[in-house]
Amino acid sequence: IADRDGKIWMDGQMVDWRDAKIHVLTHTLHYGCGAFEGVRAYKTAAGTAIFRLEEHTDRLFNSAKILRMKMPFTKDEVNEAQKAVVRENKLESCYLRPLTWIGSQKLGVSPKGNQIHLMVAAWAWGAYLGEEGMQRGIRVKTSSYSRHHVNITMTQAKAVSNYTNSILANMEALDDGYDEALLLDSSGFVSEGSGENIFVVKNGVIYTPDLSAGALNGITRNTVLHIAKDLGLDVVQKRITRDEVYISDEAFFTGTAAEVTPIRELDRIELGAGCRGPVTEKIQSAFFDIVNGRNPQYAHWLSKV
Ligand code: PMP
Repeated sequence: IADRDGKIWMDGQMVDWRDAKIHVLTHTLHYGCGAFEGVRAYKTAAGTAIFRLEEHTDRLFNSAKILRMKMPFTKDEVNEAQKAVVRENKLESCYLRPLTWIGSQKLGVSPKGNQIHLMVAAWAWGAYLGEEGMQRGIRVKTSSYSRHHVNITMTQAKAVSNYTNSILANMEALDDGYDEALLLDSSGFVSEGSGENIFVVKNGVIYTPDLSAGALNGITRNTVLHIAKDLGLDVVQKRITRDEVYISDEAFFTGTAAEVTPIRELDRIELGAGCRGPVTEKIQSAFFDIVNGRNPQYAHWLSKV
């Protein structure tokens, strides 16, 4: 991904893609304290627009606050940087990656005395869990790794270091022939996927873990809460056990990268009919209407680039 044409926004400047480099003694590279976002822009009839840009930028600032990092730019500047990167790279639909990190002035656990940096890159990225998965549903394995305890790493920060746990869980699931992992919290309740929130459907009611299970407060999760309300479906946020997922009628993952991805199997147990369920399909379709600008009710969630 590093060897290609294009521009990356780095600390206020557009830099050639291949020259967007940092030093090996970068503090974040050694100790993992940094924060990022995953954002998507979609092609709409009115041009390319970034979906829920302000909410993503707010979360980035909140992540930085939790990690005691002082953002070197204002929210407006960060929003503008993201629009500029999409324009500059002439992208129609894409994924955006803003990331803030601690510089290379000094090492040692204390980051004091280091500069805080920010970059934004963007590139075309299709269905994260595969086009087929979007239609048929994916196969998921309960991870042998627990999700972060809420007082170990900070689970409401989209922190770089939180993703070691995600990588381990995802690699284990893939090595075992599954598409993605489902992580339980340290008490054994359902938390989230390696990069997705989870929803289950039972008897027409939708359930999702409340955030005390250590799941990220997903922006797609929030979008689905709005969609469910519009469709007249009840959503209950509560503690969920893995066997509640086994006996659910339907389940799906949500995330900026994963969008709305149906889950057809957990631990080799078929969920419901073992394919994308009707409620999931409705929510998925409403989601794509919103992000592609076909639902005027949510036009305010689209920032034209
Ligand atoms: N949980 C984790 C661990 C994630 O990495 C993501 C992706 N950002 C999500 C949930 C979903 O969040 P969002 O819908 O805001 O992308």
